[in-house]
Amino acid sequence: MSNKELFDMPKLGFGLMRLPMKGDEIDLEQVYQMVDACLDKGFRYFDTAYVYHGGNSERVVKEALVKRHPRESFQIATKLPAWELKKPEDVQRIFEEQLERTGVEYFDFYLLHSIEEGHLPSYDKFNCWEWALRMKEQGFIRHFGFSFHDSPQLLDEILTKHPEAEFVQLQINYADWDNKLVQSGKCYEVARKHHKPIIIMEPLKGGTLANLPPELEVMYRNLEPNRSIASWALRYCASLDGIMTILSGMSSLEQMEDNLNTMVNFEPLSKEEQDCIIKVKELLLKAPTIQCTSCRYCVDGCPQKIRIPDMFSAMNTLITYGEDNRPYFYYGGITKDGNKASTCIQCGQCETVCPQHLLIIELLRDISEVFDRPERVG
Ligand code: SF4
Ligand code: SF4
Repeated sequence: MSNKELFDMPKLGFGLMRLPMKGDEIDLEQVYQMVDACLDKGFRYFDTAYVYHGGNSERVVKEALVKRHPRESFQIATKLPAWELKKPEDVQRIFEEQLERTGVEYFDFYLLHSIEEGHLPSYDKFNCWEWALRMKEQGFIRHFGFSFHDSPQLLDEILTKHPEAEFVQLQINYADWDNKLVQSGKCYEVARKHHKPIIIMEPLKGGTLANLPPELEVMYRNLEPNRSIASWALRYCASLDGIMTILSGMSSLEQMEDNLNTMVNFEPLSKEEQDCIIKVKELLLKAPTIQCTSCRYCVDGCPQKIRIPDMFSAMNTLITYGEDNRPYFYYGGITKDGNKASTCIQCGQCETVCPQHLLIIELLRDISEVFDRPERVG
């Protein structure tokens, strides 16, 4: 597949990081329906990672795709996590475990996961760049790239030093375009300067842009009553040049059908629609919500089993909708085992893996002050 073919790929991919759940288990039956609906409409890109769902996302690839569909009918992307690399042998060990979990003989796309200043030294120290090229030469990887969560300057340095990276995966959505921490817009320009096809992640900012406060939703509904709220964010991304595909971490068949409907019948944004997005964005950014995308990278390693993204979601609901009992009930449910925000021991593990660079310890302290008041919880 040439560089041109990467640019010409179908523009929706299924991100397997927030799969539908039935209690504590992944709802496989619903995943089968989602996968089949996706393939049926001609979208073939499935994005997983070693760490998604504690490793079960890669196992789902085997169950939902590899055992049920011909290998050539879908493409799998997975990723190597810097934060799991402690010694040189770990690189090959993890890769072989990934082949075993997914049941494939090769990966269509393989990425160094979440490159940022803190993770880059591990990829360099364990020669992951050279290793990936070797895997490619040996036929275990078809295309090699990386996902990125840092500054445009660092992205420029890496793409200059590593022209062998065929594509780059960036967090892009309309709320983050000028966000000083994420710098979507500037990173996009750097990737374009290097002529790299771009995979977009977090087009809906972890679902935030599909669940807007009512006064913002109404702005979209007034202009286009029949379009879903999520479709605005997807069309924003798909209207950009140089996009390889857009990953949406869908959690239900309903979300899949909505996204498929948007992308099968894709229409670029009109000037009037672009103006409406700018107005929504201005109002959205005034609310001081926590910029968590619910990727859950921080959850498995927390020694206190604190459900960090769920707590941030409770706090964001409170910020968005004001004093209301729902976030308190929700908080009570997620902390029923005693793992309240106040139990954080400030070990800092979560902050080292958070791609959004959130000051989690400080945020949990604020959350504890609001939610752990004895008169509100229990
Ligand atoms: S700093 Fe707190 S929330 Fe983060 S991993 Fe440690 S105990 Fe868990
Ligand atoms: S706090 Fe950071 S690592 Fe944890 S779910 Fe949110 S964005 Fe992901």
